[in-house]
Amino acid sequence: MDNETTKNFIETIIDEDNEKNTYGKRVHTRFPPEPNGYLHLGHAKSICLNFGIAKKYGGLTNLRFDDTNPSKENTEYVDSIKRDVKWLGFDWDDRMFYASDYFDKLYEYAKKLITLGKAYVDDLSGDEIRAYRGTFNEPGKESPYRNRSVEENLKLFEEMKDGKYADGEKVLRAKIDMASPNLNMRDPILYRIVHADHHRTGSKWCIYPMYDLAHPVSDAIERITHSICTLEFEAHRPLYNWVLEDWEDPEGQKPRQIEFARLNVTNMITSKRKLRTLVEKGIVSGWDDPRMPTICGFRRRGYSPESIHKFIDKIGYTTYDALNDIALLESSVRDDLNSRATRVSAVINPVKLIITNYPEGQVEELEAINNPEDPEAGSHMIEFSRELWMEREDFMEDAPKKYFRMTPGQEVRLKNAYIVKCTGCKKDENGIITEVYCEYDANTRSGMPDANRKVKGTLHWVSCNHCLQAEVRLYDRLWKVENPRDELAAIREAKNCEALEAMKEIINPDSLKVLPNCYIEKFAATLPVLSYLQFQRIGYFNIDKDSTPEKLVFNRTVGLKDTWGKINK
Ligand code: ATP
Ligand code: MG
Repeated sequence: MDNETTKNFIETIIDEDNEKNTYGKRVHTRFPPEPNGYLHLGHAKSICLNFGIAKKYGGLTNLRFDDTNPSKENTEYVDSIKRDVKWLGFDWDDRMFYASDYFDKLYEYAKKLITLGKAYVDDLSGDEIRAYRGTFNEPGKESPYRNRSVEENLKLFEEMKDGKYADGEKVLRAKIDMASPNLNMRDPILYRIVHADHHRTGSKWCIYPMYDLAHPVSDAIERITHSICTLEFEAHRPLYNWVLEDWEDPEGQKPRQIEFARLNVTNMITSKRKLRTLVEKGIVSGWDDPRMPTICGFRRRGYSPESIHKFIDKIGYTTYDALNDIALLESSVRDDLNSRATRVSAVINPVKLIITNYPEGQVEELEAINNPEDPEAGSHMIEFSRELWMEREDFMEDAPKKYFRMTPGQEVRLKNAYIVKCTGCKKDENGIITEVYCEYDANTRSGMPDANRKVKGTLHWVSCNHCLQAEVRLYDRLWKVENPRDELAAIREAKNCEALEAMKEIINPDSLKVLPNCYIEKFAATLPVLSYLQFQRIGYFNIDKDSTPEKLVFNRTVGLKDTWGKINK
């Protein structure tokens, strides 16, 4: 590595391993999702780290489904995970594996541990095992079944596999140390009985390996070098190493577990279990609701994969927990979309603007630049006519001095078109403004003598007869508090209530506003769904995946500026 200053702590570890030749200079990582939900932003951090670091060192990354929990897993999740990893720009080539691929090998390895006197079948119930475990301050107690003979253990383990026992009747445990100060080392469970069909192995197995056995052994089988996981597994590391003590690698290279801090972001919850509650209880429209912190939610909302990379690069990788500001994510999205998004005109709170001195029936085609940040992006044409839609907020009858938008007597430029001077407005019987009037200066459009005349304000517009009606969905943060995870726990403790009830207290009631009557220039409807757009002066938007020519739907990705701070603090 030549750039010393940008090295993160994991790169330092890899450099050391390369220097010592621990792995013959190999770097092989894996991303090990459990297929029990959709991937979220926290997973994106792990994906970027695992795939990114291997790429940097010319190494490899496997995608491995950690599917040892048959009752919660299914293929819908497997498919979504593959799609999301690809969308983030990573590829596992032909290295997609399942922990369930290794059930036979795991079973054999467990038998080896039994044979070595390092594992035993225990008849204690789950509650008893917990009670025998002790606490941080007190040592645990040994199970009365701990000293069964190797032969008896082998026989019982085989019977467990053959379905002789009910769920929970027996377990296989590691025989380590019931007095260990590390609770994970107090004879942890390695195998349990679960009479449930598995999404891949069907009814073949009724015993399933626990994470603490399956994970290190799967890593070792795949010859992973650096097994990167989140900090809560730090205390499992001695167990990880213990499990692999008797693993025989052809080159004596055993994987090494490295922990990093999990991602936490303000106003965001990224626990799959809680996200599932939101989906199942109908609080959001699905896993890909644009308010969800899932990869598919972000995709639907209009975040680019690059914007997620930018954010993850900015926060970096550390070994201490932190709460990252969601504003940093949103600014990464703005930064990225600024150079990516096609500029279009849309009016989301329309009022009619009539140019009283413009010939009736006349239509002009004016050029609109697609992206001022990108000369390659080209331009498109937008129609101009006597009656336009403009934003209601862009007109004020009695405006203060520094108001540079539409107000009687003042000139503004209509974007890509003419300078107009406001002459008044019409109101209905309730005093609501129904029409705004202005006169245009024919010499001020591009190519005309006064094209470069400057005025203070520029407003966007669409032509009434040449635009399309659209629904625009304005999204905001799903949670109104900074640390929803802690707050949820606090509410539940104080009120002794269900998660859902606590969630309702801190959910942002304004996280979705639907505006059914917006107007957008026709050009926008020619672009494919999910296209990245900037509505001039309003924000970044995209075309919803379900948008059709009959019903156009646009999502607000993020505003042009961070306004949340101003409104809520
Ligand atoms: P959750 O708590 O949301 O259920 P998980 O850790 O159980 O997440 P897995 O599918 O088991 O989800 O995780 C796959 C990989 O993603 C693991 O290596 C895990 O450490 C990592 N990961 C999960 N959540 C985060 C996070 N918030 N930040 C960083 N990495 C994460
Ligand atoms: Mg998990």
